[in-house]
Amino acid sequence: CGIAGYVGHRAAQPILHTALARLEYRGYDSCGIAVVGEQMVVYKNSGRVEEMTATAPVLSGNAGIGHTRWASCGLPTAENAHPHLDCSRHIAVVHNGNITNYLSLKIDLETRGHVFLSGTDSEVIVHLIEEHYHGNVADALSLAVRQLEGSYAIVALHQEEARLAAVKRGSALVVGLGDGENWVASDVNALAEHTGRVMYLEEGDLAVIERGAVVILNEGRPVERFVHPIEWQP
Ligand code: GLU
Repeated sequence: CGIAGYVGHRAAQPILHTALARLEYRGYDSCGIAVVGEQMVVYKNSGRVEEMTATAPVLSGNAGIGHTRWASCGLPTAENAHPHLDCSRHIAVVHNGNITNYLSLKIDLETRGHVFLSGTDSEVIVHLIEEHYHGNVADALSLAVRQLEGSYAIVALHQEEARLAAVKRGSALVVGLGDGENWVASDVNALAEHTGRVMYLEEGDLAVIERGAVVILNEGRPVERFVHPIEWQP
C-alpha cells in the first residue's frame, strides 16, 4: 500500500490527494485521509483515489495523513480502509504491512473495553497508541510498536498535536524536507514537485515530524540520516 503524511503551512488535503495518486500503483482497492484542523476529520472509502478526490468534502487543516490500500487482512470495504481511529476519535493511524499477532492483541484490547470498527490487523495499532497516550503521540507510538509482531510502516497523528509520528520496520518510509513544512511517504515519487531533499528511514527508526523540524530516534536515541538531494525530471 501507500502512505503519505504532511505537516506545514498549506492545506494538507490537496497535497495528500496528489501524493496518494502517485502511490496508487502500490495498492488501489480503497483509500482515505485524515486531516486535523479544528478537529480530526476522516474521509475514506472503497475505490480509487480519483473517486475520493472527486467526492471528498473540503477538509481544512494543515496536518494530515493518507493511505491507499492493498487489502491483506479484511475485505476492501469502507470500514476497512485506512486511516483508523481510536475510541476517542482523536488519534488516526495509517499502516502498511502485516501485524501477525493482531488477533491476540485485539482480544486483549476488547477485554479492556476497546471497540473495533474494522476487520483489519491495522486497527489494533491505534487502540494501543490510545492506551499509551499521555500527551505525545510519538512516545505512545514507540511504546505501542513494542507489542507488535510483523512488518510495518506506520504514521500516526493526534488532533491536539501538530506533528506526525512515523515508524519503519520492514516497509519503506521516506521523509521529505521543506521550508516550514515536511512530508512522509512510502515512496519518493509521492514527494515529486514538493521537495528536493529526502531522508530514507532505516529499520527501527521513529521519526517525529513537525512543520519546522524533523527528529529521528532509534532505540530512543537521536540519530542522523543522510539527506539525499533529488533532481526531478519534468
Ligand atoms: N494489513 C493492512 C490491511 O489489510 C495493510 C494493508 C496494506 O499494506 O495496504 O489493512
